[in-house]
Amino acid sequence: MTKRRDIHDAWNEMVLAWKMVWQASHDLEFWAAFMLHCDRLHGLAREQGLVELEVALRPLLGMLAGLADPGEAQKSQADLLLPNVFAAVRDACSLTPRRKQSDLTIGENEGLPLVIVLTPEVESMAELLLQMENYGYSFRVFSDFMGGMQFALAQRAVTVLIDLPAQVDLQTRALIRQANQAGLKWFAMSQQGDFHLRLQAVRLEAQGFFQLPLTVSTLVDALDPLAYPAREEPYRVMILDDSATVLASVKKALEPMPNLSLRAIREPDRVLETLLDFSPDVLLLDFHMQDCTGLEVAKIIRQNKAFESIPIVYLTSETSVEIQLEAMRHGGDDFLTKPISQAQLVNTVMAKAERYRSLRKMMVEDSLTGLFNHVKTKALLQQALLQGERQALPVCYAILDIDHFKRVNDSYGHAVGDRVLRTLARYLKQRLRRSDVVGRYGGEEFAIVFFDATLEQAEERLNSIREGFSRIYHAYDEGIFSVTFSAGLAHFPAYTHLMELMVAADTALYAAKRAGRNRVGRAPAG
Ligand code: GH3
Ligand code: MG
Ligand code: MG
Repeated sequence: MTKRRDIHDAWNEMVLAWKMVWQASHDLEFWAAFMLHCDRLHGLAREQGLVELEVALRPLLGMLAGLADPGEAQKSQADLLLPNVFAAVRDACSLTPRRKQSDLTIGENEGLPLVIVLTPEVESMAELLLQMENYGYSFRVFSDFMGGMQFALAQRAVTVLIDLPAQVDLQTRALIRQANQAGLKWFAMSQQGDFHLRLQAVRLEAQGFFQLPLTVSTLVDALDPLAYPAREEPYRVMILDDSATVLASVKKALEPMPNLSLRAIREPDRVLETLLDFSPDVLLLDFHMQDCTGLEVAKIIRQNKAFESIPIVYLTSETSVEIQLEAMRHGGDDFLTKPISQAQLVNTVMAKAERYRSLRKMMVEDSLTGLFNHVKTKALLQQALLQGERQALPVCYAILDIDHFKRVNDSYGHAVGDRVLRTLARYLKQRLRRSDVVGRYGGEEFAIVFFDATLEQAEERLNSIREGFSRIYHAYDEGIFSVTFSAGLAHFPAYTHLMELMVAADTALYAAKRAGRNRVGRAPAG
């Protein structure tokens, strides 16, 4: 197995060298470097008796040996030969024997969401799918559509990508119907993108249509919602009313609602602690209570900065417009007049809760990447430090900065730069644990809080993420490129205060930059 690791590493290095050729196919030096790596892989294949790999490499080596004045034509030629090498590498490296019916297997990890690809052009997908493995998917590619679809159904694939022929034949139709009936989602893909074919795909209930060639970002964007559906937390509704009858009727109306959780109290003096504990998305507040008015309770609530903007809906039998206006002036958001109709109650509660949720989300999220923004990241770091102190657990803080990002913008445009930022954001989220915090610190800088992790653990994880990210290709109009980042790491309890910790990580980052970039710098211990 360690030997196979050599093969895998040599292949990865060969791919990296190939990427350089891609970007400058006229540069003989890059070709020479690429050839060296091919040679090395060939040597390993011979050493280990991997005849298939040896054979697959031969035409490529033959072509490279005769290279005098390389350019686009040679690049295309090598492009055609590489998939065979790749298939042989996968075969040699896969730990379990390849399942007979699948032509290509990428990502053996059992836990990863499985995507089935049905295409006669197996090799053409190899490079793309290898990239997709970095995003946490496993793939099985079948040229036998029927066998592939059965496999998808039996293995509960997340989705199936079907390479539609220009005329969708009866057999393909039957397979698609089978998938639809089983509730299996599928996407159409095709070299053609004409209206007629798209219409067929729509009629056959495709989830979407991809015109080939496909890019990693298009595929990730389409697959993610299916494979990793966002878990929407139920809306939290709190009610304070001193009448047991009103509470009972509101409970009866709201409790059967899916995606909603209700907390009811009758005592006004418990309002603050309950708000803090339950953190509702909307508060229903009785206007007239025994000991105080709803207006007074609202004023007490609004004195708290944390509850400044929580929506308050009054429940009242008061129909006087003047009094209602007065209440709205004091931080009320709406009125429901008793007896409350169930439909009106549900509508009002849902509308207010939804608006407040999205407002809160906007306040803590970075709009480009969906990660926590600067302010929220800092607050979560502070929280982690307090918790670490209480529970005597280590906390690590890392700041990441993309290397030479200005060049990415300058060479490929700002939009491509933005996509690189989104790719890194997604990659970080996927590679970190739920308990870790990932934020966009600003520009091309990201921050990570590793909770309950030693400096060594955090460093190891960060390095593995750094290496993985550097292997991801980013596409632009005319080709592909890769990007690296540098990071600075500091940890609690070596640094106990928020600012100290952040400055230490920053200093370590700049040391990493000065030392040549694409590395993780460590702050000195305290
Ligand atoms: P270094 O390796 O030293 O970090 O070099 P660098 O080029 O990455 O650093 P520098 O700070 O000089 O440049 C950062 C660049 O990041 C400049 C800016 O145009 C770009 N940038 C910042 N925010 C965004 C963004 O939201 N989108 C895009 N596309 N670019 C951004
Ligand atoms: Mg920077
Ligand atoms: Mg930078």
